[in-house]
Amino acid sequence: MLIPREGRPDEPRVAGSPETARRLVGKGCVVLVESGAGRASGFSDQDYRQAGAELVEDGWGHCHVALCVGAPDPGRLEAMATGSTVIGLLAPYGNQALVQQLNRRKLSSLSLELLPRISRAQAMDALSSQANIAGYKAVLLAAAALDRYFPMLMTAAGTVQPARVLVLGAGVAGLQAVATARRLGAVVHVSDIRPAVKEQVESLGGRFLAPPQVTEQPAESGGYAKQASDAFLAAQRRQLSDQLGLADVVICTAQVPGLRAPLLISEAMLERLRPGAVVVDLAVNEGGNCAATVPGQTIDRKGVKLIGASDLPCTVPYHASCLYGRNLAALLEQYLQDGVLELDPQDPLLKDCLLTHGGQCHRDDIVNASRCV
Ligand code: NAD
Repeated sequence: MLIPREGRPDEPRVAGSPETARRLVGKGCVVLVESGAGRASGFSDQDYRQAGAELVEDGWGHCHVALCVGAPDPGRLEAMATGSTVIGLLAPYGNQALVQQLNRRKLSSLSLELLPRISRAQAMDALSSQANIAGYKAVLLAAAALDRYFPMLMTAAGTVQPARVLVLGAGVAGLQAVATARRLGAVVHVSDIRPAVKEQVESLGGRFLAPPQVTEQPAESGGYAKQASDAFLAAQRRQLSDQLGLADVVICTAQVPGLRAPLLISEAMLERLRPGAVVVDLAVNEGGNCAATVPGQTIDRKGVKLIGASDLPCTVPYHASCLYGRNLAALLEQYLQDGVLELDPQDPLLKDCLLTHGGQCHRDDIVNASRCV
């Protein structure tokens, strides 16, 4: 089992912590860790050694299973032995080159984005562990950039009104944003197209904006939203326009898996925001919920700060890696027999997230989907 250094120079996370290494050693695995792999996440080589792992310089040619955060580059996959397995957030949508290489090299691959959202998979849900961090950090970024307080304060100089935060999308990141903004004392309003989240929003102290009533209501499947119709989105933008006039902060988290994120704040709607307001767009890599946000950049638009927050889990690398490593360990423990990984393509968990196996792609629907942005 290999825990490698990640290939992307701006990726500080690592696919396994010393705690993960110890768990896997306990399951009979030989755990190889590339030296320096955990440094940017706060784990030293010595920490891994003490957990029972073996430190190596380059482990790609010597492992049966490689654990990674992002998809490994082609050179690394080429070095892996035929029949071995690669597991990570492989970003498979429309990535035919990756799938062709995995098939040609007869590598099995598990893409964690494709795990079903079922109870049995909760401990393995890497999308959730990372989205939670993104929702939390988005609010902290907004609070730091905002020109006013979040909480209501009674001071000798008079009363300060609480900040008003609008959260778009109440999935994992959105709900964490609601909880964090509430802890900081803001008044929080939330828009989502799944009426089922109303109760969750209210239990966190947020106020739910009922979806606009148009004939064709958006559907959902497996807990995810499906793309809303153009008519619905137009009605929703009209509803949000009024909210923008009242908001100090907007946290954008609305997404539809595999598709372009819904555009909920148009260029014209940005005019409704007051100078000093802050928008943090977590959907920016998927096309953005807000017009004019750019991945990785903060733009000042007529005094409104537009933050294209593309990689927030990377800004909390210690906990992002700890939790991601636990997600992977929970998945692996289901299929390890005396240190050997036995993948059954018919298993309900693997059926969805097994991307390639034995030279065949198991998710043509995903790979043939055109990339949305
Ligand atoms: P996501 O990142 O795909 O989407 C974020 C949110 O955006 C969703 O709540 C979605 O309804 C919303 N959205 C889509 N279009 C919108 C629009 N036009 N306007 C406003 N909001 C819009 O979702 P996610 O955070 O990954 O979670 C999706 C669901 O899966 C949630 O209900 C979550 O509780 C559930 N979940 C279940 C499990 C499990 O049981 N294992 C684990 C994690 C999440």
